[in-house]
Amino acid sequence: MNRQSKRVKIVVLGGSFGGLTTAYTLRRHVPAERADITLISKERRFTFIPSLTWVAIGSRTVDRISFDLAAPLAAKGVTFAHETATAIDHERKAVITERGEHPYDFLVIATGHRSANEAVDGLGPFDGPGHSPMSPPEAEELAGAVRALIANPSPVVIGAAPGASCIGPAYELAFELDHLLRQRKLRHLVPMSFVTPEPHLGHMGMGGAGKIRQLLEGAFEERDITYHTCAAVTKITADSVEVDAGTAIPAALSIVIPPLAGVEAVAKSPGLTNPKGFVPVDAHYRHQSADGIYAVGVAVAMAPVAETPVPINFPKTGHMTDQMAEIAAADIMAALDGHEGPTADLSARCILDMGNRGAYMAVDPVRPPRNKIPIVSEGRQWLLAKRAFERTYLWHARRGRRMPSSLGW
Ligand SMILES: Cc1cc2nc3c(=O)[nH]c(=O)nc-3n(C[C@H](O)[C@H](O)[C@H](O)COP(=O)(O)OP(=O)(O)OC[C@H]3O[C@@H](n4cnc5c(N)ncnc54)[C@H](O)[C@@H]3O)c2cc1C
Repeated sequence: MNRQSKRVKIVVLGGSFGGLTTAYTLRRHVPAERADITLISKERRFTFIPSLTWVAIGSRTVDRISFDLAAPLAAKGVTFAHETATAIDHERKAVITERGEHPYDFLVIATGHRSANEAVDGLGPFDGPGHSPMSPPEAEELAGAVRALIANPSPVVIGAAPGASCIGPAYELAFELDHLLRQRKLRHLVPMSFVTPEPHLGHMGMGGAGKIRQLLEGAFEERDITYHTCAAVTKITADSVEVDAGTAIPAALSIVIPPLAGVEAVAKSPGLTNPKGFVPVDAHYRHQSADGIYAVGVAVAMAPVAETPVPINFPKTGHMTDQMAEIAAADIMAALDGHEGPTADLSARCILDMGNRGAYMAVDPVRPPRNKIPIVSEGRQWLLAKRAFERTYLWHARRGRRMPSSLGW
């Protein structure tokens, strides 16, 4: 196929950070005469997922942190298909949805994750008594459980299951809940424990980040949050979290981040994924063997930084997702002109909400060893920056503008 002269079809699968950044970046640079761009998403709305912990503690509604994708995509000349993909046929180059087929020359898979709740007995919320903030409905369910805790203060366990990769929200929920309970003068009635597969606090699946370990240990100790590292959660019941198949920690409310897997439509499409359903890619985020396919964000297969006594996986943050989307879009644009696009190591910037203040972390590259000493800073200004970043990101995303990646996260 001569992609240099033909008008091509680009399909982006997923309407969140990876999908939206890819579609906007491509549309900004590729005129309509060169490419039709279609974005398929099973959700009609874009949700600013990092704010789901704020939904869980009742300081945001899902409505406030989301917007309908139809108008901004139409304004940018991107066709929006509000459909659920059921399979990808990479030999025929088509995405199959419940409504029909979308043929493509280039396909960008940005379908995020499926919570692998089957990994630990009791992970929830909808499969078991555990709670989790991994999606808007789960965060809303958790908000109800938090209201019940306030009405009836009882022990809480927060943490992550073996093989988890998205540990940051567990830390945020521990700090946010601690802060909420102190504001209500209820904290003395709620024993709080943190259980994590990490070999030490602040490992986060990326081998740690400068002094974040010391910062988090100190912060948990001053807040009377007991922590267990190298802990394998083996069972969650209505009143306890069992660790290492023996120790049951009392918990009327348990919030345990699950390990993640690729979504079914991608995982079950032959020849596209590893056994966990994630897509293997090269440095341009191109599929390692299927022609014309790219993957970005949580859908991508990434090896852990190192073996740990209890498994923990590599984090794929929103900031990293946006970088992957920009690299994949650049490669598609370059391919249209008959060459290869640039690649870059991923860096990560992240602001952790600590309840009454925030901690800022910057690592470059994400995978150690690193050229730069990680930056770790703590203070009230970072909490304000996190709130401002949410508003700024949503403002830009709603208008189809380049989203600011450098400011916060
Ligand atoms: C509670 C929480 C807090 C977080 N906090 C931070 C933070 O502070 N900073 C940070 O950088 N990162 C944070 N992250 C991580 C960040 O949210 C993810 O990295 C980001 O959402 C990944 O984007 P994505 O586009 O790859 O996938 P997702 O956001 O998961 O989106 C997947 C998209 O694919 C669509 N889709 C899925 N299956 C199909 C299908 N079959 N057919 C059609 N469409 C489909 C979905 O509708 C959705 O639009 C947090 C994550 C969570 C859960």
